Amino acid sequence: MNIHCIDCGLPFEAEVTGSVNVGEQPHLKEKVLDGSLFMKACPHCGRVNLLGQAMLYTDPDQRLLLWLLPGGEETKEMETVIKARLSVSDPSILEGYTTRIVRSAGDLMEKVKIFDAGLDDLVMELCKYVTKMELTGQEQDKTRQRAITDAPFKFFRLDGPDNEMEFSYPLDGKMVGARVGFNVYEDCAGIVSRNPSMRPSSPFPVIDREWVGRFIG
Ligand SMILES: [Zn+2]
Repeated sequence: MNIHCIDCGLPFEAEVTGSVNVGEQPHLKEKVLDGSLFMKACPHCGRVNLLGQAMLYTDPDQRLLLWLLPGGEETKEMETVIKARLSVSDPSILEGYTTRIVRSAGDLMEKVKIFDAGLDDLVMELCKYVTKMELTGQEQDKTRQRAITDAPFKFFRLDGPDNEMEFSYPLDGKMVGARVGFNVYEDCAGIVSRNPSMRPSSPFPVIDREWVGRFIG
């Protein structure tokens, strides 16, 4: 792939990984989680550039299939490519798999963390919504309330003996964290199970804050 550096503007070649199966190549998982599979430093000026590639991520152990499509180009052709990559003629091979489209490398990394923690990404989106409500409720300043509401929250990890959820998000130009009790997850899981229409019916949904926003006033 030919990249034009976002800083110096000079072109350079970068090898991009378009498909990762962590069942076959377990060493690539670390490169997914630290983001190095999605970035390359410019050989001219050293600035790290995001490659912005499309990528298929498969984890047969977690039965997880994530399809990174940064441009949103879900065309029939791409779907054909995917199925060929999975070397499938029988669509039932995806049975039991959680299949998602994601729009950024950061979203893909977050999904991997959520499923590795044994959690549900739809429930997690609801947790983020609830956590934001709680945080903005503690803020007096309207601008800060707005900044928290708009901030892209990311699940970071479960921590401590009580499995507290840790989120990270940008605020005032730096990354900050928020911790909430696992009871928030349990409550949100209850809401989702009582509202089955929240569950996606399409094979490759984008489960993000817009998705959850459709069900919350
Ligand atoms: Zn450069």
